[in-house]
Amino acid sequence: MLSKVLIANRGEIALRILRACKELDIKTVAVHSKVDADLKHVRLADESVCIGPNPSADSYLNIPAIISAMEVTGAVAVHPGYGFLAENANFAEQVERSGFTFIGPSPAVIRLMGDKVSAIAAMKAAGVPTVPGSDGTLSDDPAEIIAVARDVGYPMIIKAAAGGGGRGMRVVHAEPHLLNAVTLTRSEAQSAFGDSRVYIEKFLEKPRHVEIQVLADGQGHAVHLGDRDCSLQRRHQKVLEEAPAPDIPEAARKRVLDACVKACIDIGYRGAGTFEFLYENGHFYFIEMNTRVQVEHPVTEMITGIDIVREQLLIAGGEPLSFTQKDVVFRGHAFECRINAEDATTFLPSPGSVTAYHPPGGNGVRVDSHLYNGYRVPPFYDSLIAKIITHGRDRASALARMRTALDELVIEGIKTNTDLHRTLVRDGDFQRGGVNIHYLEKKLGL
Ligand code: ADP
Repeated sequence: MLSKVLIANRGEIALRILRACKELDIKTVAVHSKVDADLKHVRLADESVCIGPNPSADSYLNIPAIISAMEVTGAVAVHPGYGFLAENANFAEQVERSGFTFIGPSPAVIRLMGDKVSAIAAMKAAGVPTVPGSDGTLSDDPAEIIAVARDVGYPMIIKAAAGGGGRGMRVVHAEPHLLNAVTLTRSEAQSAFGDSRVYIEKFLEKPRHVEIQVLADGQGHAVHLGDRDCSLQRRHQKVLEEAPAPDIPEAARKRVLDACVKACIDIGYRGAGTFEFLYENGHFYFIEMNTRVQVEHPVTEMITGIDIVREQLLIAGGEPLSFTQKDVVFRGHAFECRINAEDATTFLPSPGSVTAYHPPGGNGVRVDSHLYNGYRVPPFYDSLIAKIITHGRDRASALARMRTALDELVIEGIKTNTDLHRTLVRDGDFQRGGVNIHYLEKKLGL
């Protein structure tokens, strides 16, 4: 078992990781930027180290500072959370080279799945269904690009191999726009990711975003924890998630779940991971894998009773998975609303002091949040301040609990998107279930 874990993150996920460590009697080290000294998990950790000034580049992304914090505190492992360094293979490699444990898959697997082109190739080889598209990276030859595109068919989406965070993508509806769009996406990809390789996928017009949670111990055992629907998105950012995904035919679901488990074994996966798919007309199409814990992992925890962060810690400590697929039992339905500190109409971040905070509670309600009365939301980081999660015996009761929970939530002093969530959970189409990835932006009139 790991004796001391450094938490290389901030906000709600850092607190989530701290709580899991405490339950396992693992000592904790919080690292933080200057402004983050008052974060809740920093106060609660056994030790804390200030690793730099406020900009993430100088603190939460500062690899040498994080590794020296491990050295001075005697931490044996680092949990990267999500975002920041969570999918940085170089970081994982430097952690291992310094003699520490990276809580996640091997650097080689992070690299394989971090590159969308190699990830798609690996998934194809493992029998996971992918989006029809160019077989690998586009060449520089215009005639060849036009030929590949005709093969795939319009509309299509040009994507950066190194893309992430919803950036480096461009939809093309007809051939006259193709070459210009390829050039633009390439140069954007070069400046954003330092890698100009792009590829083409068929653009699915009305898909849903359905993803599969897996756990693997790297010792030959892997299980899935079912699926989640994250179709409610704005600018490719998830807003509200649920598990299981509603209205999926059981045969199609079972096929894709089994394929993901097999893929984990094939690529030597270790830890928690998510296979992301677009789902349309009964078919799943792999788009990418996230090799880390995800923001929306609690909805899966609610319906399985399995603590995903605890399992990450156990796996990193060298334990084999203590349960098999048939031990994973799905119960009821869960929703998660992401509460952001942002303006309701402009969506611009709204940092500042929280003058009053009253989280909801009651049966089947979980709140993952680092907020407290008087906490100052700094302007430097992601605007996620709370996740309201509800569970119920079926979808309708989980949703009813979410409506009540959102009505109870009080956050004063800063602007939040709580009212948007209050509207969404009363929306007729959403209540029926199965809306596609464009639904929210259409509803917002974007
Ligand atoms: P990122 O790594 O930047 O999040 P993804 O490959 O996961 O990029 O795609 C992000 C989102 O872009 C998807 O959730 C979906 O909304 C849209 N998208 C990606 N690929 C396609 C496609 N082939 N057809 C339609 N929409 C797509």
